[in-house]
Amino acid sequence: MREANLIDGAWVAADSGRTLEVLDPATDALIGSVPAMGGAETRRAVDAAAGAFPAWAARPVEARAATLHAISARMAANRSSLAALMTAEQGKPLAEAEAEVDYARSFFEVAASAVEMLEDEHPEVPGKAIRVHRRPVGVAVAITPWNFPIAMLAKKVAPALAVGCTQIVKPAEQTPLSAIAFAELAVEAGVPAGVLNLVTGEPAPIAEVLLEDARVRKLSFTGSTEVGRLLMREGATNLLRLSLELGGHAPMLVFEDADVESAVRIAMAAKYRNGGQTCICPNRFIVHESIHDSFVAALAASSAALVSGIGTQPGVTLGPMIDDAAIEKVEEHVADAIRLGATLVTGGGRRRVAGAADRFHEPTVLAGCTGEMRCWREETFGPVCPVRMFRDDEEAIELANDSEYGLAAYAITSEPARIERLGAVLRAGVIGINDPGPAVAAVPFGGIRHSGFGREGGRWGLEEYLEIVTVSQAGG
Ligand code: NAP
Repeated sequence: MREANLIDGAWVAADSGRTLEVLDPATDALIGSVPAMGGAETRRAVDAAAGAFPAWAARPVEARAATLHAISARMAANRSSLAALMTAEQGKPLAEAEAEVDYARSFFEVAASAVEMLEDEHPEVPGKAIRVHRRPVGVAVAITPWNFPIAMLAKKVAPALAVGCTQIVKPAEQTPLSAIAFAELAVEAGVPAGVLNLVTGEPAPIAEVLLEDARVRKLSFTGSTEVGRLLMREGATNLLRLSLELGGHAPMLVFEDADVESAVRIAMAAKYRNGGQTCICPNRFIVHESIHDSFVAALAASSAALVSGIGTQPGVTLGPMIDDAAIEKVEEHVADAIRLGATLVTGGGRRRVAGAADRFHEPTVLAGCTGEMRCWREETFGPVCPVRMFRDDEEAIELANDSEYGLAAYAITSEPARIERLGAVLRAGVIGINDPGPAVAAVPFGGIRHSGFGREGGRWGLEEYLEIVTVSQAGG
């Protein structure tokens, strides 16, 4: 396992020699350590990306697409080792980590196809010949979170490299090893020196250089709304192009025509992916009064049956929270809801796992939640299902839209007119109807309101790294 950073094609340590430890959140075991880069190394990464840009941008599209396919192939060949590393540093069950590698790969395949289909446009204007074309913005930066260590990287690296941008990646401190393993595969796949650079370390000194250097033209960030706001403010100096994929607080509406068994299956798949530490997890279950009690009972039974443990152990379906602060936040939200009158239907506390750290929270269902409760207003980011009852569609939609966030929303119903309406009125960038997995590489993904802006996936993901140029020729 490599523990160095990638700058201009070389694997390097921090100038200071300082490193940061990476721990397994399930066991607290030391997995490895990575360089704690500072401003000087980050500046060298920008130099490298800026230097490599003209040649990479000038490469024929087919050649860049071929490199992306080669990255995908390397990831496929190393699926097991990538997944095992992700489980070790992030905690998710191994099957989920393997699925994440597949999901991440799909962004390279999709970007490679999409970039080959980009074409100039020629709007009709009397007396002029117009050509509208697109060119890469230049040096791009990706800052990614810990919850999907490889997928979040892939969503940014694939479109940037496809269109001809060069890139500097700063992964989360808790999961840098997966990012290093990915970068190693990218180099093996033929990504030239300087095209992809990777720096690990504490965010402040790295971000300072990236945001101040006018050669950086694009920042794609996935993480909390709070940090997104800060980066937007600081990126204003250089009028940085931004994509911000921020926090979510998805509602799941379960209508009276839903079959309870399949509704619970969908709810479980959407809610407990990565132990509820997923930006598009449903965090607010809004259930019609006619099926409320049976839905809650079935959701509680399925939730209680999840198996907590170390992600590599067979049969484990629920991993640990990423760190102590994360599990404490879950506990605070549960305690607050109970104090304000919620009914604890199942779970509610920590689960001891033999031979593991004390960082596992029980799958928890809370009925009778209200708008005052923290779990109803804030992203819990854990295995908690707060439930409220509704009487009619108006009330359900009002409850669903009563949030500053707008990333994902889900509904379970088969009524065509209602489905049409929900697509128009639910305030979210991604809406899953009877679909627990609406985020796939071929379609646009991203939020509105305090969940940010910009889209990843398909040709929409490429647009984020392109600038549009109009060439207007008089007399054409
Ligand atoms: P976070 O604290 O905002 O961190 C995300 C990234 O930003 C990490 O690489 C972090 O580095 C870095 N960072 C932190 N402070 C920074 C600063 N001052 N300047 C520059 N970079 C900084 O978020 P998180 O806790 O890792 O991730 C969870 C959040 O991400 C949740 O809110 C979740 O909803 C959101 N998320 C959104 C999406 C989406 O697509 N919308 C997807 C996944 C997750 P360090 O790790 O070194 O601190």
